[in-house]
Amino acid sequence: MGYDVIVVGGGIGGLTVAALLSARGMNTCVLERQSQVGGCIARVEFSGYDFEPGMGLYTSFGPGEIYEKLFSALPVEPPEVSFTTPRVIRLPDGTDVPSHDEQLYSIAGGPATLAERLAESIKRSGGSVRLNSPVLRLAFDESGRAIGVDLLSGERVLAPTIVSNLTIWDTYGKLVGLNRTPPEIKKRLGTLQGRGAYLIYANIEASAVARLPSERMLVKDSAGEFTVAIASGQTAPDGKRAVTFQTETDVESWFTYQSSEEDYEEWDQAALETFWTRLHAALPELGSEVEVIETANPRTFYDLTRRKLGMVLGTGPVEQSRGNATFLPNVFMVGDTVSSHARVDSVIESAIRLADQLTS
Ligand SMILES: Cc1cc2nc3c(=O)[nH]c(=O)nc-3n(C[C@H](O)[C@H](O)[C@H](O)COP(=O)(O)OP(=O)(O)OC[C@H]3O[C@@H](n4cnc5c(N)ncnc54)[C@H](O)[C@@H]3O)c2cc1C
Repeated sequence: MGYDVIVVGGGIGGLTVAALLSARGMNTCVLERQSQVGGCIARVEFSGYDFEPGMGLYTSFGPGEIYEKLFSALPVEPPEVSFTTPRVIRLPDGTDVPSHDEQLYSIAGGPATLAERLAESIKRSGGSVRLNSPVLRLAFDESGRAIGVDLLSGERVLAPTIVSNLTIWDTYGKLVGLNRTPPEIKKRLGTLQGRGAYLIYANIEASAVARLPSERMLVKDSAGEFTVAIASGQTAPDGKRAVTFQTETDVESWFTYQSSEEDYEEWDQAALETFWTRLHAALPELGSEVEVIETANPRTFYDLTRRKLGMVLGTGPVEQSRGNATFLPNVFMVGDTVSSHARVDSVIESAIRLADQLTS
């Protein structure tokens, strides 16, 4: 069956563009390899806890801001949001100072609710969201024009316009194919720096949360910085809360120095111990009332999203200013490696721009 537009990937970028195009009457199909939508903001649930998937910093839900613009064009309601406590920065000497972030919101049910509302919108407008549908590559005709995509299952899906929600590396490396990618783009991709994240998902006694100066913190210490995000309005057993601690990590060592599964386990355990020690040194009020449940690292992000080397925190402003076009006239990109920041609201903003371009 043919569509007007195929969107490869059901992350926030792919879903936003597909929701807008469907609402404007285009027959749109999202192909997502996972069994749930959301990519980096998909649900993170372990042991009866629903965790904040990242730093828990959500902005732009105010009147006239980007979410109002998006949802006013869709046949679904936006997720419910509420103000969250202002973020506090803890300095290396232990002093707490207020941050000057924009107004922060917490999304009822977590950010995955946003992705789920967009998927619902696509379906209500007559579009399709196909889960468990990994795309292998673009399909080309004899003249070299992209005519659709080939799925891993062997199925070919046709459309005159294709949007990739994969990173810029994966759009060229996997969908287009490096053999078709012009040398100047290959060279640029080689010089682009991406970053990785290491996270601990833990449970924490509500009494220990009450001792923290805020439920959103940026903590600076001699090793760098990390964030604290206590999930609000999400599932947790009585008297406990779900907390996500996040720091940056380089990506290559997670793939290069581990030749076996035991090596990997050791590496992951060492990363956990180092980060755990940092957490307790910088946040002594946690005491013993916090317990590790799971961790995430570039390898787990690779498994979850298939992003090259599990790189998740953007590519830096130079690349991100280049926009949604590829060298193929009917293939476009959307997502955090081609938007102004690696943030949900920036990805949505660039997806709105792409939808406007495709329907103008
Ligand atoms: C740890 C962490 C903390 C963060 N914290 C915040 C925060 O507090 N606030 C904020 O605003 N932003 C935050 N971000 C950033 C934000 O979550 C991301 O920038 C955004 O969700 C990325 O969306 P995307 O559409 O670019 O891509 P992705 O979320 O990567 O989505 C791409 C989708 O494509 C799918 N896919 C991949 N390959 C294929 C294939 N071959 N076939 C079909 N489907 C495929 C993947 O499964 C995935 O669903 C955080 C990110 C991370 C990782």
